[in-house]
Amino acid sequence: MGKILDGKVTQSHILSQVKEVTQKLADSKGVKPGLAVIIVGEDPASQVYVSSKEKNAKECGFHSLKFTMPADASEAELLAQVEALNNDPAVHGILVQLPLPKHMDENKVIQTISADKDVDGFHLVNVGRLSTGDLDAAYVPCTPAGSMLLIEQALGKDLSGKHAVVVGRSNIVGKPMASLLLHANATVTVAHSRTKDLPALCATADIVVAAVGRPEMVKGDWIKKGATVIDVGINRIDAPERGEGKTRLVGDVEYATSAENAGAITPVPGGVGPMTIAMLMANTVIAAYRTAGLEAPIFTAE
Ligand code: NDP
Repeated sequence: MGKILDGKVTQSHILSQVKEVTQKLADSKGVKPGLAVIIVGEDPASQVYVSSKEKNAKECGFHSLKFTMPADASEAELLAQVEALNNDPAVHGILVQLPLPKHMDENKVIQTISADKDVDGFHLVNVGRLSTGDLDAAYVPCTPAGSMLLIEQALGKDLSGKHAVVVGRSNIVGKPMASLLLHANATVTVAHSRTKDLPALCATADIVVAAVGRPEMVKGDWIKKGATVIDVGINRIDAPERGEGKTRLVGDVEYATSAENAGAITPVPGGVGPMTIAMLMANTVIAAYRTAGLEAPIFTAE
């Protein structure tokens, strides 16, 4: 049975580092990190995510702002709100909660956020900084950044000689994850829906990162003995064993069988999910440090 990489414990460790450096910034420069979150419409899952971001921001000692716009707001109104926040010196991080209503162009909205306030790390400038290895200037997307800290707990910072297989090539998880693993000296393979014989490929991996969106797709017999398994997936499935109409969350990895072979593995829930929010707070305080002309703090898993 592999070591469980507990995202909740690591989250609280990161958040306490964020609080500490936030206090230091207030003491030395009189600056409070500001995080502005914009939510458009009433999507219940998005409301939950935004409330949690607001709560964490307040607990970290940030100036936390939330802007709620109706689902029928125009794209021009949203862009004007983003521009106003770009120009507000009290705001260091701007996050537009996705998905946006269909009549809005998500990419256009994201590219309107100032690259230096883009704490989600989705702006093309930050994508370019990450893929060219300029991590001192980049804002790294929160889910891959959090996943890297969990890998660091299992294997340390230097992944020289390790083969990592990332299953999934999305812009928000798979691709930035691959860039980070490469930066840490792993040999990286990115798999996707057109990959041939995925089980055999995964079986060669020292690190498997599953970001697919398919419940329990990665099976235990795909996992090499002692491998590190990071399960990014969050899937809600029916759970009739809990009663009629009940559901439960599972990852993209079949946990029980994979844990048998893995050297270390993240659970779902309680693995990568809590790390995502911690890294959003980390990115916001990093933005405040950079804006103040200070060297940004580095966050560690241990
Ligand atoms: P996307 O749907 O954008 O990407 C899924 C990727 O998986 C695609 O590259 C797709 O390949 C690949 N894929 C689909 N089916 C297969 C298959 N049968 N075999 C191999 N590869 C396949 O998803 P995201 O990256 O946005 O999210 C992935 C998962 O992570 C989801 O469960 C999501 O809920 C979760 N998530 C969790 C977060 C967290 O905080 N923990 C944050 C973000 C996401 P192709 O490109 O060829 O179509």
